[in-house]
Amino acid sequence: MTEAVETRHFIQQMIDADIERGQWGQPGDRSVITTRFPPEPNGFLHIGHAKSILLNHGIAKEYGGRFILRFDDTNPVKEEQTFVDSIKHDVEWLGADWDGEVRFASDYFEQMYDWAVELIRKGLAYVDEQPVEDIRAQRGNLKEPGKESPYRDRPVEESLDLFERMKNGEFGNGEKVLRARIDMGSPNMNLRDPLMYRIVNATHHRTGDAWHIYPMYDWAHGLEDSIEGVTNSLCTLEFEDHRPLYDWFIEAINKDRDEKIHHPRQTEFSRLAISYTNMSKRYMKQLVDEGHVSGWDDPRMITIAGFRRRGYTARSLRMLATDVGVTKFNALVDMGRVENMIREDLNERAPRRMGVLDPVKLTITNWGEHGDDDRVEMMPVANHPKDESFGTREIPFGKDLYIEREDFMEDPPKKFFRLGPGREVRLRAGYWVTCTDYTKDADGKVTEIFCTYDPQTRGGNNPPPDAEGKVRKVKGTLHWVHGPSAIRAEVRQFDRLYMAERPGKKTGNHLDDLNPDSLEVLDGALVEPSLASRGPDEPEWEDGIRRFQFERQGYFCLDPDSTSEKPIFNRTVTLKDSWAKQQ
Ligand code: ATP
Ligand code: MG
Repeated sequence: MTEAVETRHFIQQMIDADIERGQWGQPGDRSVITTRFPPEPNGFLHIGHAKSILLNHGIAKEYGGRFILRFDDTNPVKEEQTFVDSIKHDVEWLGADWDGEVRFASDYFEQMYDWAVELIRKGLAYVDEQPVEDIRAQRGNLKEPGKESPYRDRPVEESLDLFERMKNGEFGNGEKVLRARIDMGSPNMNLRDPLMYRIVNATHHRTGDAWHIYPMYDWAHGLEDSIEGVTNSLCTLEFEDHRPLYDWFIEAINKDRDEKIHHPRQTEFSRLAISYTNMSKRYMKQLVDEGHVSGWDDPRMITIAGFRRRGYTARSLRMLATDVGVTKFNALVDMGRVENMIREDLNERAPRRMGVLDPVKLTITNWGEHGDDDRVEMMPVANHPKDESFGTREIPFGKDLYIEREDFMEDPPKKFFRLGPGREVRLRAGYWVTCTDYTKDADGKVTEIFCTYDPQTRGGNNPPPDAEGKVRKVKGTLHWVHGPSAIRAEVRQFDRLYMAERPGKKTGNHLDDLNPDSLEVLDGALVEPSLASRGPDEPEWEDGIRRFQFERQGYFCLDPDSTSEKPIFNRTVTLKDSWAKQQ
């Protein structure tokens, strides 16, 4: 898998042509290219946002231009500083370094206000006093034109006066709005005298109580882009119908003006949608607020923070973005494809360890035949099967071991190449053992397995041929831990949060499709002692999160809730796509 894009997508081709033509300056000047990521700080970012960030940042980087991180903080009611902080962290984590300081739309409120006044003066905007519901009712529909407001032709002076008083806080919420004066008969509904400002008497997370009017998205967005010198305003397909309005506002400001403001180009691409997830902030917020998950960063969430906590790497998200590409067609990406990216990355980069998630005791009865029952042998084992640079470590082996409960059967079928009475298996990097006996409790649960070991199989290697030259063989290799030195750990295994490919499609309520078994907590897992702290052989990850493959089990990362007494491991992904088989 390469991270490089092989074919140039339609946005790159468009920008190439712009540069050649000199759309933004001197022909050939690439460094003028400026993109931005404009999140509203009203929630955590999700994987769809990651696609947008990587696209915008990637383009700026490719052309040697600028990538701007701007908070679209135009709604004081829903926005919070905590979201600003989490977003900055996520963008940084993705490796999308931004140009200069973080920008805020609220820094431009004064400038936007002045431009709105200009529009009123030019007869291109007016204050409407009808209730918002009436305004909505008069918009008409795709078949019928809208109805003009009785305030549409009011004198400019009146609108100027009212607009200033709106700004000064003289009116209640919803009492008045500023509207663009465009065309109530336009076939494009967005051009039917859209709202530019509404009254919101609320405290803003940055500007406090300075403002009582707040700009609407369509009015604000293009102006923010213009102020920052953005050349390419990339957004998702639903904004295609808004593009004429985007352009109209910039042209309205530039009308009869000597000094024109910069006119960015809006281009739409398809949003990322992934099966078995819901990327609407409203629904994500509901999951958090109603306690269906532990928080925005719950490892089952489709948020960047959730994915990170689950063990996903930034690299795997970059691989996904490249793999999915940039198009104009909305398509549902299979969750299995997302999981394959992280599998591919972790397969290359995660060191191997042994951990027994559901342990059952295994005792080697002939271990201390010479009176040295306590003997512990250190067994060297490679940290990566295909990459020697990962080195080797030594793990203790002795009389008291634990293996995975599911690796033993009292009465196994022939094809069960694991342990059962009379059967022999290889304990990985340990010895070969043969089961001689086992005990059960009153409920019939196996409590202990007894084995003998073959001292000639040290390191898990084949024993020498017997007298007739025959070499004994085993089919199964099991992972294990050494009881006295193992560390007790909690393991959190996640399944998909939703059971339906498109949550809520059937009943209209996404909660109906929640998977009741999306979290399984195993609190008696035992892991090898090397996991206690990062040893010299353990690679350091760019984000400091410790990630591993637990052999035969999957990929895991250390959860931030871990303590020195009790590490917690989150299962990032299984080794194979078990879901695809189930379906
Ligand atoms: P909401 O409108 O509910 O707040 P949003 O997802 O649109 O949610 P924004 O913060 O407005 O959130 O989005 C920031 C940027 O991310 C926008 O440029 C938007 O086009 C882009 N974006 C949002 N969702 C996706 C997605 N699924 N795929 C790609 N880009 C997306
Ligand atoms: Mg939005």
